[in-house]
Formats: sequence, structure tokens, C-alpha cells
Amino acid sequence: MVFIKQFLCEHCGQETFQQAMVHLTEGTSNQKICRDCFSKIMAKQLGVPFSPIQNNRITLSDFEGKGHTFEIASLLTPNGMALEATEWIDENGEKTVGYKESVLMPVGTAQEIIYEKLMAKLVRVLAEPSLSFNYGLPAFVYPGTVRGRVEYEESPHAEGPKVVIDGRTFTWDEFGKMMSSWEGWKFQLRMIDITEDE
Ligand SMILES: [Zn+2]
Repeated sequence: MVFIKQFLCEHCGQETFQQAMVHLTEGTSNQKICRDCFSKIMAKQLGVPFSPIQNNRITLSDFEGKGHTFEIASLLTPNGMALEATEWIDENGEKTVGYKESVLMPVGTAQEIIYEKLMAKLVRVLAEPSLSFNYGLPAFVYPGTVRGRVEYEESPHAEGPKVVIDGRTFTWDEFGKMMSSWEGWKFQLRMIDITEDE
């Protein structure tokens, strides 16, 4: 489980999840601020307008008809304008992150165009599972490609990061068990940025 802590934005005081914070370093000062505040600072520096996304919540169905609710956040960076979709899962009162996707386009691109591209990416990702379940145990799909995300492991006793596949979080050990059923096989590993298309 990826446990999410809440922080207050040091600019506007808005409550923000740890994973949605941006670290702003200016000279010797280091502030943790929310995405909206960061984007507004960037907009001033770049001399472009910025308005946070209004329609910021959407539920989409996956390959088996299960609904996934995403919060959409906009982030203006020197490299472009990003829209990020994060699935916050509530498990026994604790927030975890399931699916997470992002699209980055040049500054000045209309928000609707970035939004459409993000929706298309989410629909595609939700339609292509990387795991199948045999008697409740997860296994890699075959034939097919296994896609996942590397996440921070907060437990000091665990070895390796956490891995999120199909919006589910696995420990490095659990991931290893899935790999072990492929002994003798070869694999290809390619790291890609969250904003890239596959
Ligand atoms: Zn803020």
C-alpha cells in the first residue's frame, strides 16, 4: 500500500496530498506548494495565462467494466503544460494511488486538446490489462506487454520499490513471485516517463 500523507500548501494553505506537492527551490529557500500555486508562479515567469482545470473529476470503466475515478490536475512547467490524472483509492481510511497518467504538450496548447489526449490515453490504458488472475493469484498476461509504475516504498524493512500494475500496488517481493513463474525466459525492460506515449 502506498500511504499518502496530507500537507498544507506553504503558499495558499490548501490541503494537498504528498504526491501532489511540488518542491519549489528559489535561492536558499525550499517550499512545498500545491500544483495550482506552482503553475501560477510559472505563468508569471513565462508570461502566459494559466487557469486551473475546472472539470477535474471523471470515472472511466476498465477492461472488465469496473469504474475508476480520476482527479485531473493541471501543471504548467518550463517544458510545457501537463494534465495529470490520478486515481486515489480509499482503503480503510487511507489514500493510495492506483492508475496515474499524464500528458505534456507545448505551452499555449488549448487545455481541451490536452484533455482529449489524456482521456484517450486513460481509455487505452484501462482497456489493456497487464495481469490476469488464476485462483486469485496475479500473473503476467501472455502474449502481451506488462506495463507498470515504480513507486516509493516507505517500509524500511522492504527491499526494492513498490510496483503498481493495473492500478494495484505490489511489493518488490510480490513482483518477484510473478517473475519467478517465467524462469528461463528472457525479458525486455524499457523505462519511460509518465508523460510519454507507449
Ligand atoms: Zn497552493
